Amino acid sequence: MTTSIPFLDLGRIHRPLEEVFIRVLRKVVQSNGFALGPMVAEFEQDFSSYCEAKHCVAVSSGTDALVLALRALGVGRRHEVITVPNTFIATAEAISLVGAKPVFVDVDPATLLIDVEEIEAAITDHTRAIIPVDLFGCPADIDAIRKIADRHALFVIEDACQAHGARYKGRRVGGLSAHATCFSFYPIKNLGALGEGGAITTDDDILAEHLRSLRDHGQAEKHVHQEVSQNARMHGIQGGFLSAKLQHLDDWNGERRQIAAQYDRALSELNIIVSPTTVEWAEPVFHLYVIRTKWRDACRAFLAERQIATGIHYPTPIHLQPAYTHLEFLAGSFPEAEKAASEILSLPIFPGMTGREVDCVCEALRSLADTAS
Ligand SMILES: *Cc1c(COP(=O)(O)O)cnc(C)c1O
Repeated sequence: MTTSIPFLDLGRIHRPLEEVFIRVLRKVVQSNGFALGPMVAEFEQDFSSYCEAKHCVAVSSGTDALVLALRALGVGRRHEVITVPNTFIATAEAISLVGAKPVFVDVDPATLLIDVEEIEAAITDHTRAIIPVDLFGCPADIDAIRKIADRHALFVIEDACQAHGARYKGRRVGGLSAHATCFSFYPIKNLGALGEGGAITTDDDILAEHLRSLRDHGQAEKHVHQEVSQNARMHGIQGGFLSAKLQHLDDWNGERRQIAAQYDRALSELNIIVSPTTVEWAEPVFHLYVIRTKWRDACRAFLAERQIATGIHYPTPIHLQPAYTHLEFLAGSFPEAEKAASEILSLPIFPGMTGREVDCVCEALRSLADTAS
């Protein structure tokens, strides 16, 4: 008998916490702190100490975290920002939203993280910042990137929207050598709100204060608006939910690592599949477990027939998205990212996924490998 295996089952994470969530709801109603307020302030404390960072500024989404970080660092029109083409659209979108131009650098084919060797060739007189992405929960080589940035007086904004809790050379993402680190608390992330949310962490006092103003209509003090900005405040209730869920993040990431290890062991013997590469500097948190295979589409269909859900992150590199046709990139501009896009497949991985379910996915892949050879 086969039962279906979901790509992600948030219910398994949330059901045991329902009573906790009800208490948060009661607390927010009693405090009247609906937009920012005491529960958001408390979450900022909790998350900055978790990240080993001096400050955390909570905002309304990961996209807004990136937009405000760029704005606070003075990135705007006529500027260029270096990033990768194989990320969620929001990374590039944030650059465009502040009026700057995304400049893409290809990725290392083994890790799918930014190819640090390629960064310098992409720097021009207009470059202001680099946004490396901690893709699938694995930190980019941030110290090497910061070194390049310092040589050219650029800012580093780390997109850690998929890497809550990951470590780099033993240190926690969010407290590394980037000038600012951006997180998303979209529900499916390793730490997810019950709605939308985001945050920026930084050790820079002035930057943190500027970000607090930018998220609240450029307000420097009550009724004094220093600059035209926007509303990017976090909801009070999401701050409460996030503080409650943060207490479980390390356990949940531990479960993800165990599932990844189980996949690694089972898939290493299948010659049609390449498991994710481990990098020596990182302790990743497996937001996604992404394999590579030349038979990706067949593999995906084969798993779907067996009721096993999979995903592709992401099927189209950003430079080839309709939204970026104005940048006039041709197919072949970033060969590693493009090749990866046709070969990657994300397998189910989430806290609460059972060993039996992981076995079931591995068995299906094994039988596919047997028929292919
Ligand atoms: C999710 C995500 C974002 C955007 O976060 P939102 O909260 O959805 O706005 C940005 N970058 C990456 C890499 C992401 O995975």
